[in-house]
Amino acid sequence: MKDTQETPKSSSKKPYSGQSSIDVLAAQCEKCKKWRVIQSEEEFEDIRSKLSEEPFYCNRKSGVSCEDPADIEYDSTRTWVVDKPNMPKTPEGFKRHLVLRRDYSKLDAYYITPEGKKLRSQNEIATILKGNPKYKGISPSDFDFGTPKVMEDTVPVDVPKKVPGSSNKKLKTTKD
Ligand SMILES: [Zn+2]
Repeated sequence: MKDTQETPKSSSKKPYSGQSSIDVLAAQCEKCKKWRVIQSEEEFEDIRSKLSEEPFYCNRKSGVSCEDPADIEYDSTRTWVVDKPNMPKTPEGFKRHLVLRRDYSKLDAYYITPEGKKLRSQNEIATILKGNPKYKGISPSDFDFGTPKVMEDTVPVDVPKKVPGSSNKKLKTTKD
């Protein structure tokens, strides 16, 4: 499998709430291939940002070794999305959100500024960085709108099919 070295995130079915669709972060051990849940987004981004030079191993988590059972199994009880390795770490104060489309076809990435403004493109990033001296030192290349790949084999079978001509990304609010 060509995706095994990438760091995935997984998401569950959730109504659109303006929040990220991602609710569990996991990294795969290079040696035993087990999945380990990563507690903080910061640590996850740290692992992901240098995955090629520093592959992830179970013992990165304190007290955990390859002998321990996996924290989470790759299966269709949840939908998995797999990130590209070596993505830049989100600059401090900013938040990177990923929202899964209702038809599970893809995710949309956007950034939230420390002031709560939503940025959807490199253009918007460039504009805000230029206009704010306090963001000096942050470069547009610190932002990446690349989105993880939705793993088709983990998409629920009852997902509503894409309606041609409908580009409505809003999800209906249903409680889970
Ligand atoms: Zn391991």
